[in-house]
Parts: sequence; C-alpha cells; structure tokens
Amino acid sequence: MKFVNILKILFLGLLIIFFIVFIAQHMYDVNVYFLTYTFKVPLFVLVLSFTFIGFIIPTLIFSFRERNLSSKLSNIFNISKAAFFSKYQKPKTNLDIIKDIKPLYFILANILKQTPNYDTDMYSEFEKAKSLRIENPQEAIRILDNIEEKYPAFQLKRDILFDIKDYQGAYDTQNQVLKLTPRSEKPYQKDILNTIKSLNALNIEDKTKCLDELEDAFGDTKNEITGFLYVSELLAQEKTKDASKTIDSLSQLNLQDKILLVGCSLPERAVYLMSTNIEKSASKDVLSIFFIHIGAPQKIKVLADTSTGNEVVDFLLKAYQDQSQKEGFDIVFKNLKLWKCKDCANTFKNYSPKCSCDSWFSLEPHISL
Ligand SMILES: [Zn+2]
Repeated sequence: MKFVNILKILFLGLLIIFFIVFIAQHMYDVNVYFLTYTFKVPLFVLVLSFTFIGFIIPTLIFSFRERNLSSKLSNIFNISKAAFFSKYQKPKTNLDIIKDIKPLYFILANILKQTPNYDTDMYSEFEKAKSLRIENPQEAIRILDNIEEKYPAFQLKRDILFDIKDYQGAYDTQNQVLKLTPRSEKPYQKDILNTIKSLNALNIEDKTKCLDELEDAFGDTKNEITGFLYVSELLAQEKTKDASKTIDSLSQLNLQDKILLVGCSLPERAVYLMSTNIEKSASKDVLSIFFIHIGAPQKIKVLADTSTGNEVVDFLLKAYQDQSQKEGFDIVFKNLKLWKCKDCANTFKNYSPKCSCDSWFSLEPHISL
C-alpha cells in the first residue's frame, strides 16, 4: 500500500475518533426556544445541524452558478470553434446562444459573415458606425457621438476624420482622446496628436504661424512625417541654417531614408530637400527612388552607373535612361510600392502615418513591386 494512502486512512480514523469523542461529550440536552415553545435538543445535534446547513447552502448556490457558467463557457467554446473552422463549416452556426456576450457576439458575427441581430446598444451602434465609415462618414460620426463608451468612439471618430482629410476635426478629436488616455498610452497618443497637428499646419495661410506649428509638433514628436514637413517648410521659407541643423538631428535618429521616401508621396514639397546634406547619409536605393519621383534626371545619371543592390531600383535606373525600355519603366513605376504595414502586411505606394487597417506608425520602408 502506498504511504499516502496509509496516511489518508490514519487521518480518516483520527477524524472518526474525534467525531465520536465530540458526540460523547455533547450528549446533554440544551433548551432551544421558538416563540412560546421550548425544545430540548442534544447539543451535538444542534452543532452538527448548523454545520450541515452552513455547508449545504453555499454548495447549492455555487453549484447552481457553476452550471450556468459552464454552459455559457461551452457555448462560447463551440461557437468560437465554429468561427475557427468556418471555412469548412456548412450549417449555419446559431450565434444567438451567446447574444448576451455582446462584444464577442459582434466579433464572431463578423468572422462568420452573419448579419448581427441589431438591437440598439453600444456594440451594435459601434458596429454600425464602422460599417458606414466609407460610404457615409458623417453619419458614422453622428452615431459615434452618441455612444457612451467615449474612448473607443473618439478613436474611431479620429480615424474616420483623418481618412477624409479633415485634419482640424481629427486634431480636436485626438485632444479628447488624450484626455481619456491611460498613462501608459499617453506618449503614443501624443505622437498621433503631433502628427495630425503637422498635417493640419499645412492648411494655415500665415507662413510664420504654419512654421511655428510644425516646429512645435516636431519638437514633441520626431518621426518621418513631422520631420519631413518641418524640414521642407524650413527650406521652402529659405531658412537653410535651421534646415541643415534639423536634417543633422534627423540623420542621428536614422530617419533620413524614411524622410526621403515620405517625400516621394509629396514631390512638390520634396524638391526642396534636393542638394541638402540629407543625401550624404541616405541609402542608395532610397535616394534613386527619391530622384525618380521628383524628376531629377541629372542626379539619376550619376547613381545609374553603379548598382544599388535592389533589383527593382536597378531596373528603374537603367530603364529611365534607355528610351527603348520606356514602357517597362512606366509599368514598373506604376506598380512600385515603397511601404509595407508591419501589422496587416499590406503594401502601399504612398505614405500615410495611419495604415488602412487603422494602425498608426506601422508603415515601414519596403521597395518592391
Ligand atoms: Zn496595416
């Protein structure tokens, strides 16, 4: 026999002995009163019955609850399994059994491509705003303004306003987001605010004020878009000294390649960056792509003599000079992608601080077709 089992038997034996001793010592009667009645009950019966009641009541309550919870859990498990294997699932899953777990209900309805059963509440309103954001952004915003859970609603509203290039609206909304942001997320939300502030500054007519705003935003958040907009404005306003100082600090942050690639999406501003010291530290393939975008053939000539190591770039450089390959150049140039989102893996030609998947600052340089 196992040692543990021997211990168990010993323990049980001891328990029984104690139990018998307890009963033997508490056999005497005590009086129990109920209104005008008096009962004589042996003390051990009284103690044991209270102990029993003390056990049985919580046990009943908890086992009842447990049954509820475990049936809920198995519903969730079955439906998420259906969502997981949805490709192979023929019969329609009955989502209604998890309808009281609203967020999950809407997420799974999305995955299983079922139309959620709308009754008006926060989750359905949020879902409705999301589905309306492209075709009717104003209506989507109106719905979001009425949602009680302000933090996610403000963030979605900001993204919608950003997408329709209403930078002033996005900026105001982001200020509201910032008020509700938990401390740990503050720097990230602050970066979004400054980025929108930079883009919004371009709409200011007063040149001095525009530059002030750009400087402010860049001072707080140094990234490829605040950097690009600030430097190009400095150069446009012929503040060359400040510009080259800023470029130096950007090179120290290793942002020169990203800034040139941002410039490819905004060539009319990017031309100012030509012949600045940013060229010295930039990588060769990025520089070539930059020259092609701003149409600076004399610069390309120099670069074309040596390989950049990037197949696409090398092809573009050769084809740009060779008239017979003009068609090939046009096709490759048209399909050229410069950015890849590290969250959704989509590739893009043009830069944006927010990807179409609503991730901020997720685009990384990626020159490819
Ligand atoms: Zn993305």
